[in-house]
Amino acid sequence: MDYCLFVSDLHLCDSRPQIARAFISFLETTASKARSLYILGDLFEYWAGDDSIATGANQAIIQSLNKLTFSGVPVFFMHGNRDFLIGEGFARATGVKILPNPSLVTLYGKPVLLSHGDALCTDDIAYQKFRSEVRNASWKTQFLNQPLKERIAYIEELRARSEQEKSTKSMLIMDVNLQAVDNLLREFKCPPLFIHGHTHRPNKHIHNINGNVSERWVLGDWYEQGSYLTLSASGCHSQLL
Ligand code: MN
Repeated sequence: MDYCLFVSDLHLCDSRPQIARAFISFLETTASKARSLYILGDLFEYWAGDDSIATGANQAIIQSLNKLTFSGVPVFFMHGNRDFLIGEGFARATGVKILPNPSLVTLYGKPVLLSHGDALCTDDIAYQKFRSEVRNASWKTQFLNQPLKERIAYIEELRARSEQEKSTKSMLIMDVNLQAVDNLLREFKCPPLFIHGHTHRPNKHIHNINGNVSERWVLGDWYEQGSYLTLSASGCHSQLL
């Protein structure tokens, strides 16, 4: 069967080695037979910079991605909010191509819009403010100039604070804003398919904009069980590992 694959929100880290093993096995089996693989952000729990390629569990993941791309399966990566510091060093080591967020691609003759999804959570004003601060080039350069150890310590502190805040934020605030979704769909001329992750609420939604129907597929996370989306000529199907 001819299919493309989509995953996001694996949140790979040293403390969840079973997820890294599940992902490597997914790369060696399901992904090795795919036309292409799209990783739509938050592959890693965090990414402190491309000099962390050789640390911890990262090495095995990078080797597996490299093996897959070397075997001829194109792999595309889009930044998530956790791993937006992934750069050209990672791309070179893995053979993965970095896509801008959002991106419109054509698959099986259909325009397909891809995004991580965090930019659509516009009700979370504090997060959007933080996002615009850390995504600017001078912040990134200044941050990446610090020693790796200090960067990791800073990120660990941020994570602890964000976990605390999440418990008090309402579920509604942390979902996508539907007006923001419609605006993005309009901006890309209402593509029939839109695939994103980030919210960890796997589902299929239908958006009707002036008679143009877009299916919006939300990818699941890999906390408890791996999940992925296949796209073939017959459309999208969500799958569990
Ligand atoms: Mn995310």
